[in-house]
Amino acid sequence: MPADTANTGYRGVWVFIEQVGGEVAPVSWELLGAGRQLADALGVELAGVLLGQGVAGLVTEVWAYGADKVYLVEDPVLGFYRTAPYARALVRLVKQYQPEILLLGATSLGRDLSGAVATFLGTGLTADCTSLTIDPETRLLEQTRPAFGGNVMATILCRRHRPQMATVRPRVMPMPSRQEDRRGELVRVDMAFNEAEARVEVIEVIEEKNKAVYLDRAEIIVAGGRGVGSKENFRLLEELAGVLGGTLGASRAAVEAGWLPPEYQVGQTGTTVRPKVYFAIGISGAVQHLVGMQTSDVIVAINNDSQAPIFKVATYGIVGDLRQVVPALTAEFRRQ
Ligand code: FAD
Repeated sequence: MPADTANTGYRGVWVFIEQVGGEVAPVSWELLGAGRQLADALGVELAGVLLGQGVAGLVTEVWAYGADKVYLVEDPVLGFYRTAPYARALVRLVKQYQPEILLLGATSLGRDLSGAVATFLGTGLTADCTSLTIDPETRLLEQTRPAFGGNVMATILCRRHRPQMATVRPRVMPMPSRQEDRRGELVRVDMAFNEAEARVEVIEVIEEKNKAVYLDRAEIIVAGGRGVGSKENFRLLEELAGVLGGTLGASRAAVEAGWLPPEYQVGQTGTTVRPKVYFAIGISGAVQHLVGMQTSDVIVAINNDSQAPIFKVATYGIVGDLRQVVPALTAEFRRQ
């Protein structure tokens, strides 16, 4: 059991800046926004950690999104993400500079890296958080996430070890504004990496072409559930999405029925989304679906059951048969 580190002078809030090929995952900016609030409440600085090769050009962006400081480690071995060298770099930085909070996006990369880092550091990790608050007196991070199949929200504290580590789902935190001229401090750290340590060799990178990969970045989502009734009926939703320049989404029931592939699933075991407009069509509003979309700016629910729970979170509700309502909406939007 590692020794308690809770009261041993760890200070500061860190955000791991996830980049692939120089493109930063938007969740990293969202976390800088959340991290800013935590850092201000604690009276400490907010830092971004940037690992990679040829990524120094991103430092100004990290400042622009609110970091006071950027820790930059560049090395050819970090050119492509691989668990071992990335974990080693992050663990070394944490041991040297001792932040009290370390946040990562709950993406595939963030989930992989955070587990390895928490293990090496012997600290706790709360995965897949949907909210973070701080108690400035105790300096404890209150990390909230769905538990027991989404039926309860659990708030988890890491009392004995530092840093307090959490991964946070994309799109649950608002995007902070970008301040073009904002500048901070840069700490460049050199580490001697050895290719053999990486253990994994990247042979080829194949880019995914599927549109649904961008579900978490979509501004308009037209999502259908079991009520849509068939794959053919999804054409109606596709037409509406086409007219609005939106993306299709689905409940788990629609995915399980084979009407859309799993990448389109919204919810607890799918993607968390926060579009400007979310159409929930033939979706009842089960809690596992709601946790993935209820922070959307505007929610339009279409359901033939006026008692469906989805209407409780809807901004606009239309009670009716989707087979009539959706084509009528499409025609109206097309006319405008
Ligand atoms: P239903 O609940 O069957 O609702 C269909 C709705 O369509 C009804 O409200 C009905 O009134 C309406 N309807 C029917 N015909 C029409 C019509 N002609 N016109 C208009 N309305 C009509 N679910 C997710 O979505 N995402 C997840 O990530 C997810 N993760 C889960 C994880 C766990 C651990 C568990 C246990 C469950 C999870 N679920 C998830 C499943 C979830 O509990 C629900 O079963 C699912 O969301 C229901 O999908 P639905 O709303 O499409 O179907």
